[in-house]
Amino acid sequence: MQKSLTRTLICQLDIDEGSPRLLTQGQREARRVVNEVFRLDREGYDWDHIEELVVDRSSHVKNTTQRLVEKAIDALERYYDEDDYGYPRQNHEDEFPLRMNHGEGYALTLSDSGAVNFRITAKKRTFVRGTLQASRDQIELLQTALTDDVWRVGTAEVVSRHGRHELHVNVTHETGTVRSKDTSTTFVGVDVNEDNVALAAITEAGVEDSIVIEYSEIKQERHEFFTIRKRMQSAGQTAFENTMQDREKRFVHDRLHQVSRRVVEWANQFEDPVFVFEDLKDMRDSIDYGTRMNRRLHSLPFAQLQNFVTYKAAWNSIPSLKIDPEYTSQECIVCGHTNRSNRKKKRFKCVRCGFQDHADRKAAVSISAKGLQKLDRNVPALNNLPVVRVRRQCNGASEPPGHDPVSTVRGHQTDGDSGSVSS
Ligand SMILES: [Zn+2]
Repeated sequence: MQKSLTRTLICQLDIDEGSPRLLTQGQREARRVVNEVFRLDREGYDWDHIEELVVDRSSHVKNTTQRLVEKAIDALERYYDEDDYGYPRQNHEDEFPLRMNHGEGYALTLSDSGAVNFRITAKKRTFVRGTLQASRDQIELLQTALTDDVWRVGTAEVVSRHGRHELHVNVTHETGTVRSKDTSTTFVGVDVNEDNVALAAITEAGVEDSIVIEYSEIKQERHEFFTIRKRMQSAGQTAFENTMQDREKRFVHDRLHQVSRRVVEWANQFEDPVFVFEDLKDMRDSIDYGTRMNRRLHSLPFAQLQNFVTYKAAWNSIPSLKIDPEYTSQECIVCGHTNRSNRKKKRFKCVRCGFQDHADRKAAVSISAKGLQKLDRNVPALNNLPVVRVRRQCNGASEPPGHDPVSTVRGHQTDGDSGSVSS
């Protein structure tokens, strides 16, 4: 199976005609459009009907309004599916990204000298023109995208950053390939938790390696933000509350990007890897997985981390697959016994055979094994696991020099006598 690959290029605007003020007005209208979608949704309008109503009243060109409606509906879908941050809002003062189709709401053209010129329709009959500025790589990629048939220039957004407008342009390579799952030999199970992600790489021959990447600061920050938001809610400070919500989103988003980069780097050291994730939809549909799953589902944007990893993996040609998450945290990988009391917080101990391990690493091994099964491969014996390595991901900057960010913990085998798994 082939998937096309999309990259977002971030460009500065060197404006010759029109002014930044027009772009700001376009973004305000974009915000109004998006808020109108949310309002109509609250009032119970059908989503198809919403688009019609909003397009009629918008002072953006039709397909720009449609892109904005699409974006608002995506946010609503995420809210109804995942409920990460509560009902979406855009009431605050921030300018809303203006999303446009290439050749319609905006257009890029190559000049004779190779410069990339832009035309943005800020609102109906209001144009801003000039030249894009970006790194050499990005300009070269844009030049290719504008001239080569296998590349396509897609939607773009006018975004405000540090008081300036930028154009974020999506370019897609239509035939970029992700290696087929069937040719994969190393199965990298990914167990996402509120404070870490555990990875285990397994082939038909055995366990290659495993790692636990901690990001407890994401959990801490989210809890702090949550407390601040609650305090503001009771004080009726909605404007600040929205600002905090945006800051929290940005923080989590940035950190999840860093983590996903590390995850893909780690997997890349193995031969023909494939990522194995728990299917979050299956998790949602089941009401019987107990509080752990439900808590996990609401405690971190799991889907977001999965998406980031899948996307970055695809750029490295690494495929991904999903497995049924049932019992991945409770099943013993040595004797197969499944019991809720096998797991106590970060500790796994099989009540039947006594096998012990770091609970999240064990879950990652179970996920990898399910990946092997799903593609009809042999699952090797899993009674001889490597030492558990725990790595702190995101506080590297404050690490004193010479400090080893990796701590090793003995993996406990069936005959292991004692010792606690620390992190
Ligand atoms: Zn067991």
